[in-house]
Amino acid sequence: MRLKTLALNASEDGFRMAADLLNQGELVAFPTETVYGLGASALSERAVAGIYAAKGRPSFNPLIVHVGDPKDASLYARVDRLAQVAIDTFWPGPLTLVLPRLEHCVLVPAVSAGLDSVALRMPNHPAALSLLRASGLPLAAPSANPSGGVSPTTAAHVRDGLGGKISAILDDGPCLVGLESTVLSLTDMHARLLRPGAISRDALQAALGQTVEVPGDEDVPSAPGQLVSHYAPSARVILDASVRPKGALWLGFGPASLEADISLSEAGDLSEAAARLFGALRELDDMAEPDQIIAVAPVPEMGLGVAINDRLRRAAAPR
Ligand code: AMP
Ligand code: MG
Repeated sequence: MRLKTLALNASEDGFRMAADLLNQGELVAFPTETVYGLGASALSERAVAGIYAAKGRPSFNPLIVHVGDPKDASLYARVDRLAQVAIDTFWPGPLTLVLPRLEHCVLVPAVSAGLDSVALRMPNHPAALSLLRASGLPLAAPSANPSGGVSPTTAAHVRDGLGGKISAILDDGPCLVGLESTVLSLTDMHARLLRPGAISRDALQAALGQTVEVPGDEDVPSAPGQLVSHYAPSARVILDASVRPKGALWLGFGPASLEADISLSEAGDLSEAAARLFGALRELDDMAEPDQIIAVAPVPEMGLGVAINDRLRRAAAPR
């Protein structure tokens, strides 16, 4: 069934309408500082099932639950000393914590894909926080795009992928970070980086005072849902192209790539590159002729470049 997908804005009325829809078990996309999320009540089986259906997301891929207050984490998960340090240091912000679920956790099991852990985050975005408060709900929210595709960083991207399948989109402009959150697992004595993001491994280690392990890049996914092919445009993507390969579209980075079709950042600024990455992949995908390749210039493997390269490798992975 095709729905009329309402366009809501970040106003009192917009938050109220979005909150009412969420309380009725409907799906509402909303902005965060990372990417747009597809929100649903994490207390409703039907609503959470709706997320998996609208995205075509495999049922083994768990969802991040968004909370409006750092104290809410301990309503759902065991928050030990280390987790509390991470929360105090980085929330609200682009850090998701995977923690042991409390035995009588009220969140529906499907948000954890049946695991005994749960992923929690408090976003640092005024509209997301207003919506969390107006709804009074914990919100399950993966990126608001069909599973496997490029994440949305504007309301228009959300409408392209999910228009007609969800009840509303709350529009508050483009996302500032542009890459999904760092995912840190703290389910036992080990701290493990499951997904790189804007909060770096170095920053985590400095705050936690211990080593953060990076699960090796074995062929098996390091976490359910860390699929090798992900974030992928339709066109084939190749990496580390310091010149334009013949016939290819070229996504540049830094001053050397002035002739590129689109540049992630002419100045070579990694924050700017992260914020532009997903939008640029979408634009190039639209420009590409059938069978034309998207070639990407090298991005240095430092700071935010670690997270950018993680997404680019998945976009380029064999499908
Ligand atoms: P997305 O919602 O698409 O940004 O992806 C969230 C990611 O968080 C998933 O791909 C999982 O890898 C990770 N994640 C969420 N919940 C868990 C969990 N309980 N255990 C391990 N990883 C998780
Ligand atoms: Mg996603």
